[in-house]
Amino acid sequence: MLKVLKFGGTSMADAKQFAKVKAIVESDPSRRVVVVSAAGKRFSEDHKITDLLLLCHAHVKYGVSAESVFDMISQRYVEIRNDCGLSTDIESELQKIKEKLLNGISKDELVSRGEYLSARLMADYLGFEFIDSAHWVRFKLDGTIDTEKSYELLRELADGRKVVIPGFYGAMPNGSIRIMSRGGSDITGALAAAALDADVYENWTDVSGILMADPRIVDNPEPIKYITYDELRELSHMGAQVLHEGTIFPVRQKNIPLNIRNTNAPEDPGSLIMENCPDDDNDKQFITGITGKKNFSIITVAKSGMSSEVGFLRKVLEVFEKYNVSVEYVPSGIDSVSVVVASKGVSDCLYAIMGDLQKNVKPDSINVTENIAIVAVVGRKMAYKPGMSGRLFAALGESKINIRMISQSCEELNIIAGVSNDDFEKAVQVLYSSFVK
Ligand code: ASP
Repeated sequence: MLKVLKFGGTSMADAKQFAKVKAIVESDPSRRVVVVSAAGKRFSEDHKITDLLLLCHAHVKYGVSAESVFDMISQRYVEIRNDCGLSTDIESELQKIKEKLLNGISKDELVSRGEYLSARLMADYLGFEFIDSAHWVRFKLDGTIDTEKSYELLRELADGRKVVIPGFYGAMPNGSIRIMSRGGSDITGALAAAALDADVYENWTDVSGILMADPRIVDNPEPIKYITYDELRELSHMGAQVLHEGTIFPVRQKNIPLNIRNTNAPEDPGSLIMENCPDDDNDKQFITGITGKKNFSIITVAKSGMSSEVGFLRKVLEVFEKYNVSVEYVPSGIDSVSVVVASKGVSDCLYAIMGDLQKNVKPDSINVTENIAIVAVVGRKMAYKPGMSGRLFAALGESKINIRMISQSCEELNIIAGVSNDDFEKAVQVLYSSFVK
């Protein structure tokens, strides 16, 4: 059994957090591969090391001394080293970076050093070996990751060993360092898990899993126990702030379960993301999560006899394509079709679109409704349960929330309702209390 663990910035913020990481790793002998982020915030006004490194780079670029910012970074790591009682020679690592900084280090190499230093310290603290990600995460010239090559290299380096790996960066074919997008250590962890055929990829952060609703809207929402990758996509597409699907493709491809866990509450089971979730008969929960977004516009084109006019829908959608507007939903009736789009996507071209629609399909009328919020109820089990949509619409109706649009696909992975922006928070709360508690 092999578990690959990734610890995020808050789990690496200081010696207290390092001690929690050590306890977690040592509590299970299959936890042998550890990927780490740079030190993150210790408290809300604190700075992330990655942000300070970016700031250092900006200073150098504009010819301002980066000395004081670099000192802040150095202090954080020296403090962690001392408080963990380690003898790692972090000063000479810092000195090397400083010298390079004065002689023109690349932005990517500089910004990657947060993860590098975190991993060096964590490797010593755990008594694991350090593997530099520049030696195995390989980018292609077009900036995408050469997964097969990277997997092969990591297998050679890490096979059967206990290792700590810095997240967030790799190397270009010429050896120069390249960073990933922000939050990229999640990708490194997923790549390592996929390369080593891990049994599970544990992503340790500061929340006990993905929540069923936004905690800014619903008080203390429950964490999701099991969620499929498809549901995760639905939730994140509709606005839930969860791991982005793009960051975890390596584990999804290999069908490795991903467990989101809380470093500050390691006994919590967290959320388990899988291709197919086990059917838990005791689980009366038919929905997985509720999410949504504000600021959509609905453009409704009506024309009597439209449903028998071949090519009508295509002609309508072509207009949106011409203006490069992405269409979210297309609910339709016999004599009308509505096109739901994000308002910011049409803010500059709405009148041009209406003009083109007029020319293309000669409708009886075109109506635009703005300030619409979309609420999405997501759940793989909804398809087996009669009355789910009825319950949803009844709950909104009883709370006097006017539904402006409805959309549900045949797979019934989600049910979508459009409400006015002003009703958005209330709609999420009402649905949460009627479906969850
Ligand atoms: N340290 C990087 C960031 O702040 C990468 C990561 O933490 O995943 O975005």
